[in-house]
Amino acid sequence: MTRSSETDGTRPVAAANDDESPSLLFARIEAAVAATGLACHGLVAARPEDGLPTLPDGRRIGGLLLLGWRGGSSWEAFAGSPEHHDGRPDPLDRWSRRVIGGLAEAFGLFAFFPFDGPPWWPFQRWAARTATIFPSPIGLDIDGEVGLWHAHRGALGLPEGITVPAARPTTSPCAVCGDRPCLSACPIGAFDGRSYDAERCLARLTGQDGEACRREGCRARLACPVGRDGRYGGEQIRFLMDAWIRTPPFGLGPARGAAPKKTDPEETR
Ligand code: SF4
Ligand code: SF4
Repeated sequence: MTRSSETDGTRPVAAANDDESPSLLFARIEAAVAATGLACHGLVAARPEDGLPTLPDGRRIGGLLLLGWRGGSSWEAFAGSPEHHDGRPDPLDRWSRRVIGGLAEAFGLFAFFPFDGPPWWPFQRWAARTATIFPSPIGLDIDGEVGLWHAHRGALGLPEGITVPAARPTTSPCAVCGDRPCLSACPIGAFDGRSYDAERCLARLTGQDGEACRREGCRARLACPVGRDGRYGGEQIRFLMDAWIRTPPFGLGPARGAAPKKTDPEETR
């Protein structure tokens, strides 16, 4: 994947100007996002209950552009980054902050991250507004095309005036999944369809019996038949598993504006 140094967060793109129409501005933002290797997961309208800050110039945030990984091909953007190779802690979060933060700075926007907390920004609730991403019974969000093989890496708060298109309603793959193999694939039964026992999962992963999950990935995620073409590669899976083991699952903390939810996602699993 070729990325322009002008848009990968290392050099600013042209900032928004007063004469530019919202649609042109949004098109430029989308192009800049694509150049980073991140995917747009959807544009959703901001709501008062989100408790969002204002933009650096004082305008209100009218929409949230959700950004992240979509399928295994997104790995390349991070794998070649300096953060992945510098040996310092939290490389993926630092990469996300540099790239998405760079986009926000370039366009005068506000950057949100799923790892900023507690309290955490409610990325799952925002994603549910896209009508193309849904909760799954194992706590991870599921997308109609790439299934469980995607992850939220951040969001950009956009000014009011950028039109948020009505989401094309789709049906959750889980609604038509007869056997729900994800629920029975975990060797320790960490999922009961309502919650995920992260503590037991972590105990398994850090013990001798957890090697298969550490090396090949979560059995529940692997069992899902949706979006298998977008499955993460081995290096990506091992990196994410190691990162999840090292970092306490932030999804277990309190979400902003919501009661603590044990089923909130651990974005790096
Ligand atoms: S296996 Fe079925 S129920 Fe489980 S996440 Fe996949 S589609 Fe949803
Ligand atoms: S990583 Fe392994 S132990 Fe943890 S939930 Fe997935 S299958 Fe179960």
